[in-house]
Amino acid sequence: MPRSKRVLVTAGPTREHVDPVRYLTNESSGRMGFEIAAAAARAGHRVTLVAGPVVLPTPPGVVRIDVVSAREMLAATRRAFRSADALFMCAAVSDWRPRRKRQGKWRKDGEREDIAIMELVRNPDILASLARRKARRLVVGFALETGDGATRARAKLRRKGVDYIVLNDHTALGAERSSVTILSSDGSERHLGRRAKRALAEVLVRLERPSQARAR
Ligand code: C5P
Repeated sequence: MPRSKRVLVTAGPTREHVDPVRYLTNESSGRMGFEIAAAAARAGHRVTLVAGPVVLPTPPGVVRIDVVSAREMLAATRRAFRSADALFMCAAVSDWRPRRKRQGKWRKDGEREDIAIMELVRNPDILASLARRKARRLVVGFALETGDGATRARAKLRRKGVDYIVLNDHTALGAERSSVTILSSDGSERHLGRRAKRALAEVLVRLERPSQARAR
């Protein structure tokens, strides 16, 4: 990206509350997204970071918006996307949320029941919905896959309509270092061997929109 762009980054997990004290979430530490925000700020961009619940310090020069649930993340990200030039959708958004959040604590009903059933509804796909309105913005998604990740990640790239998908394996979770494959909508691939997330972030913030000519 050329200098002084407005870069929007999402990071961390979301929490989907079952009741006031319990929630569904995942193992995302938020580190990769925070490194991307920090690298973009060091490169001279104006950076907004929409963060799920994580205990990481805000990188210098970055405007941070804290959110909890996927729906809060959608609202904050949608608002910031209007004036952004690039989106790095690094957050590990919960796919599902409980159909309803109980007002009081979910209590055991006597001792006889061994099974409890909780209905889940699908959360909005933030990345796909924003990518539909991307116009000339750079939009980068992330995928954490096990097994044959590349095929699934490529299908995801097309389905979500993004410029790039950055493919991680699950060893990236919470780790200092990671290796990734950057899949482009023009069909090309670039593998970055295991290195510090800070070093990966330095490469990612230099991505440009893939050439439309090569995509055809
Ligand atoms: O479909 P999957 O969760 O594997 O896709 C991962 C990518 O999609 C990530 O960039 C993630 O931030 C984004 N995503 C999203 N909204 C969801 C689920 C995933 O923006 N509900």
